[in-house]
Amino acid sequence: MQERKTIYLCLAHMSEEGLEQKYVKEAFDTNWVVPLGPNVNGFEEDLKQFVNDGVADGQREVVALSAGTAAVHLALKACGVGQGDEVIVQSFTFCASSHPITYLGATPVFVDSEPETWNMDPVLLEKAIVDRKEKTGKYPKAIVPVALYGMPYDCERIMAIADKYGIPVVEDAAEGFGSRFKGQILGTFGRFGVLSFNGNKMITTSGGGALICRDAGEKNNIMWYATQARDAYPYYQHTAIGYNYRMSNVCAGIGRGQMTVANAHIAHHKHVQALYKDLLKDVAGVTLHEAPNVDYDSNYWLCTLTLDPNLKIKGQEFAYKEVIKTAVGGAAGVIHAVDCPTTDCQPNENVEALRVFMLSKKVEARPVWKPMHKQPVYQDAPSYLNGVSEAVFKVGMCVPAGPYVTDDDVRYIVDCIKEAIVR
Ligand SMILES: *Cc1c(COP(=O)(O)O)cnc(C)c1O
Repeated sequence: MQERKTIYLCLAHMSEEGLEQKYVKEAFDTNWVVPLGPNVNGFEEDLKQFVNDGVADGQREVVALSAGTAAVHLALKACGVGQGDEVIVQSFTFCASSHPITYLGATPVFVDSEPETWNMDPVLLEKAIVDRKEKTGKYPKAIVPVALYGMPYDCERIMAIADKYGIPVVEDAAEGFGSRFKGQILGTFGRFGVLSFNGNKMITTSGGGALICRDAGEKNNIMWYATQARDAYPYYQHTAIGYNYRMSNVCAGIGRGQMTVANAHIAHHKHVQALYKDLLKDVAGVTLHEAPNVDYDSNYWLCTLTLDPNLKIKGQEFAYKEVIKTAVGGAAGVIHAVDCPTTDCQPNENVEALRVFMLSKKVEARPVWKPMHKQPVYQDAPSYLNGVSEAVFKVGMCVPAGPYVTDDDVRYIVDCIKEAIVR
């Protein structure tokens, strides 16, 4: 029997024609191996076409940057976020949504999620805005909702609240590339929209990101900050602190190739989600996370499920007995070693046992993101909570999705889940 290859959560997948390599080769052939050039312009044009589909109130502009994190950073900077300010951000997210707030000397104010989407709860959002004004005398400088695992947030209510108090919205659509709310692409509702093209995202440039802007003037301002904020002299003259955040023309070549398969990728993620739904419908104790209604058109970047706390999983009694030696979460780079296998807020033992069981079956599964208000590094940040993100963190799990995951893989994954359950 042929040995099974590991099924990863989400892998980069190139176009069949190898268009990515064609554009990258062009960059070399024309000696545009720099952070600007024809591929950057072409990729921005492709993205602009893509995001404006369904936008009724004026064409958005797109700036290609070196990372999604850089896009968050520059968007907040353009919203005037600085030392001593506060920014409201969804707690249930990856750290790249909130870390740039602290880069700017501001404080994140974490807002919990609604149970339907797992994204920013509009009721808590308004409560937080009113309470911060009361406590600090100032309104927060920006609001950052996050399309967790691709699921849209309630764009209508969040935008209405933001407009009521005159606070700009920076949509973190890094995981929600191509997701839509009532037909409109995420990232085009707020003042800015963040996209990511990291290796594991919906499309990739190896590493990269982009910022969706309201008009050419905003785009120009972002580009200026992304290229070290230079004034027009024959020598370097600076009147502001800038950043080196522009996308490389080599990476943008990958992005141009990826744009030819973006819609096919999204369709495949949705197909995998539908297959999980069908195959998991009779598995008691395992619930697939789904969009609440047709207004929420998720790209299903990662498929997620929750485990009933009473569900028994094989090997559960050994969960968390040893510290992890290799990084969970596809971590590139360096991970600090720990000497204790547990923290005060962690997934239930059956979730950890299922992760370990799936790994033994060569399936990568991962806990859902740990809420930022429970991260030691943010222990002093204000937060507005309803218990939803912590509750989902205890029971949630991400399972493989994406173009590399075949129908047969999904059947195998669900069979493994069934095998793991002690009935
Ligand atoms: C991936 C991600 C980002 C940042 O993207 P990078 O390109 O990796 O810097 C921001 N926010 C969320 C929610 C993400 O998942």
